[in-house]
Amino acid sequence: MYKEAVRAAWTEINLSNADYNIKQIKQKIGDKTKVIGVIKADAYGHGAVKIAEVLRENDIKTFAVATLQECIVLREAGAMEEIIVMGLTPELYAEEIVKYNVTPVVASYDNAKAISEAAEHQGIEIRGLIAADTGMGRIGYMTDSDENIDKAVEEVKKIAELTNFEIMGLISHFSMSEAEDAEYVKLQEERYFRFRDRLLAEGIKLPLETFANSPAVMENSSVYLDAARPGIVLYGYYPSTEIDKSLLDIKPVMSVKANIVYLKEVPEGYSCSYGRKFIAERKSVIGTLSIGYADGLPRPYSPYGKVIVNGHIAPIAGNICMDQCMIDLTDVPGVKVGDEVIIMGSDGKNTISADDIAQAVGTINYEILCGFGQRLPKVYV
Ligand code: PLP
Repeated sequence: MYKEAVRAAWTEINLSNADYNIKQIKQKIGDKTKVIGVIKADAYGHGAVKIAEVLRENDIKTFAVATLQECIVLREAGAMEEIIVMGLTPELYAEEIVKYNVTPVVASYDNAKAISEAAEHQGIEIRGLIAADTGMGRIGYMTDSDENIDKAVEEVKKIAELTNFEIMGLISHFSMSEAEDAEYVKLQEERYFRFRDRLLAEGIKLPLETFANSPAVMENSSVYLDAARPGIVLYGYYPSTEIDKSLLDIKPVMSVKANIVYLKEVPEGYSCSYGRKFIAERKSVIGTLSIGYADGLPRPYSPYGKVIVNGHIAPIAGNICMDQCMIDLTDVPGVKVGDEVIIMGSDGKNTISADDIAQAVGTINYEILCGFGQRLPKVYV
């Protein structure tokens, strides 16, 4: 029972495992490429401020987040590093971009111009990255045809003339791993280099080129470039089920735990939870946990869900509620109120991973980690 958690459910964040993963990643990519620590979405639910400390201890001097707001959280916690905001920030927030010394990603002249004007107004210069859409179809200049590349180059040349916005480099993002679709990865790579070469030929300096996410860190050294941007592997999970795990040894950082808060015996035929999906087939022992779907335990996990209690596996009984769920402890000997339950993690003998939960509910480990990161208190170990 963790009193500091102020409730009987929490995520346990193993910072030594995060440290181990960072060292593994750095060793994998070598000295020529620096690591940008992707700590968006509160470091995939692990706590961005704490993960930033581990990155800092490993001499990582650039962080990447998704939004201005995430950057502000880090700045207010004292982060002095370069912080790239990888999503587009509307012109409305240009003054804040400058105030918080954000490294923005831009994909239009108007956006860069607004930032340049705000920087001039505040008497400084802002460095930003040009986004290239090489096939993700999300943000960035289209690079799928010569005509689109010509258009993009003309606009980037105009951005280069802005007085208080300095082009710091080029960023692009993969939509597949090589293991999933090697041909598409190659196509994205080709588009990237065609666009990059055109910009360089026009005299645009690109001191920081960054393309590699976790899959590329694992399997594609040709796009390591100046800086890699691994996210999910920092947290000890692989970016897809297809990828060859032997390429990088990493350890999960997050576990999810809860204490049994209530225990009762129910007769055969008694039901548990909304919708009466669990009906006891025998006299049963039911435990209640203070964790539900608002804590990131997905409701569709209810029929498949399992937890680890005192070295045994026990099923979730009935629908997961918003803040609580019930578990069937009939086959677990000697359970008592207060016993620790592992919802995600390992007791050394049994393991339930984010991948197991993700697979059961038809999503990806990323979403499971982010979900558990939202409301549960974090205990750092
Ligand atoms: N770069 C960008 C732009 C992203 O959106 C993400 C995450 O989705 C990453 C890097 C890190 O990706 P991953 O967690 O797969 O390493």
